[in-house]
Amino acid sequence: MTDAELVLRSTRVVTPEGTRAASVAVADGTITAVTAHDAPVPDGARLEDLGDDVLLPGLVDTHVHVNDPGRTEWEGFRTATRAAAAGGITTLIDMPLNSLPPTTTVGHLRAKRRVAAGKAHIDVGFWGGALPDNVRDLRPLHEAGVFGFKAFLSPSGVAEFPHLGQEQLARSLEEIAAFDGLLTVHAEDPRHLAAAPQRGGPRYADFLASRPRRAEDTAIAHLVDLARRLDARVHVLHLSSGDALPVIAAAKADGVRVTVETCPHYLTLTAEEIPDGASEFKCCPPIREAANRDLLWQALADGTIDCVVTDHSPSTADLKTDDFSTAWGGISGLQLSLPAVWTEARARGHGLEDVVRWMAAHTARLAGLGTRKGAVAPGHDADFAVLAPDETFTVDPAALQHRNRVTAYAGRTLHGVVRSTWLRGRRVMAGGEFTEPKGRLLTRSHGHRHPRGRTGTP
Ligand SMILES: [Zn+2]
Repeated sequence: MTDAELVLRSTRVVTPEGTRAASVAVADGTITAVTAHDAPVPDGARLEDLGDDVLLPGLVDTHVHVNDPGRTEWEGFRTATRAAAAGGITTLIDMPLNSLPPTTTVGHLRAKRRVAAGKAHIDVGFWGGALPDNVRDLRPLHEAGVFGFKAFLSPSGVAEFPHLGQEQLARSLEEIAAFDGLLTVHAEDPRHLAAAPQRGGPRYADFLASRPRRAEDTAIAHLVDLARRLDARVHVLHLSSGDALPVIAAAKADGVRVTVETCPHYLTLTAEEIPDGASEFKCCPPIREAANRDLLWQALADGTIDCVVTDHSPSTADLKTDDFSTAWGGISGLQLSLPAVWTEARARGHGLEDVVRWMAAHTARLAGLGTRKGAVAPGHDADFAVLAPDETFTVDPAALQHRNRVTAYAGRTLHGVVRSTWLRGRRVMAGGEFTEPKGRLLTRSHGHRHPRGRTGTP
């Protein structure tokens, strides 16, 4: 083993076994040991004493739309990864759509990787896309290192990424199951969306009525049935409807390989407080009522929901019009996801260990990165977020790093200031200042097979 080059010391280190005072030794970008707080610093190693600031594993955000190349006026690798680093995120997996081209062939994946190279402040991996006409591209994409695939069951919002009909979904999932890949799904049933009242205009209540819970509930029930029948691995993206939880819980109890994520905005914001015309709050599925939010928190607590990811999906400000039916749907969450979730989590009696489980450990496992990312433990990459959990700040859009400073959190006072972010033992962000981009482009590790069973976690 290489001698430690760096030791990070804190009275509060969040490890998989709990939070304790510890010293974390790092060599060659990897954690080599987690020892007693007062363990002697090895000769030649630099000590970084963090005092009472909390040392967390760097967060792993598996749902980010970087939109690069093609829609770089919306976002890009430089700005997205800076925002992520500012928010304590050290790994992101980029969604296959909203960039041009979308990541739906190996050639397109190469184009993405070329564009991202040298720009990423944190580590970046890629999801592939499952379209009606690219079933033959799925295995080559898998072999080229995408972490899994994304599909829509209803219109995606961009013409170049059409959704799958029921038979197309079955065909794609069968193909993906043949190599034990993962299909992640935007699950809203288009028939229920079409049947809902589409009034348009600036009223949030009208927008909410246009994306009813039963659209999610029906699509998820269908997806779970298919996963059960094909013994396939599926992941429900951005769950908003609490009414879908019993079906998911029952499927997990039966050993169906389904995992679920939700997002900071569903956990921290409510329909009741969204002003009319405020389309910075628009996303699909929508932010629902306070009582629905309570169901999501309960499901996080009992393990029915596995992870929390941002679904960072920005656009230019002009697309955020005051008509909810035509405004771009997407909320930019990279920089604020940790403080937003932590603020609500602490108020509900959860600890940082819970937040780390939802936003680092389980997301890392979802992407098959669980042995390298998402934990302060020997053998893992020395990726960290240093957090002052009791400090507060008020969200100022001007302080955001993503390209278009539109935010649903403006003016909110949040708990948790990210003091610094570390990638493989190097500080990449401190106090809002960034080093040169040193992030790597990640590929799914070959030969990794996901365990079967009824654990209910990714
Ligand atoms: Zn998304």
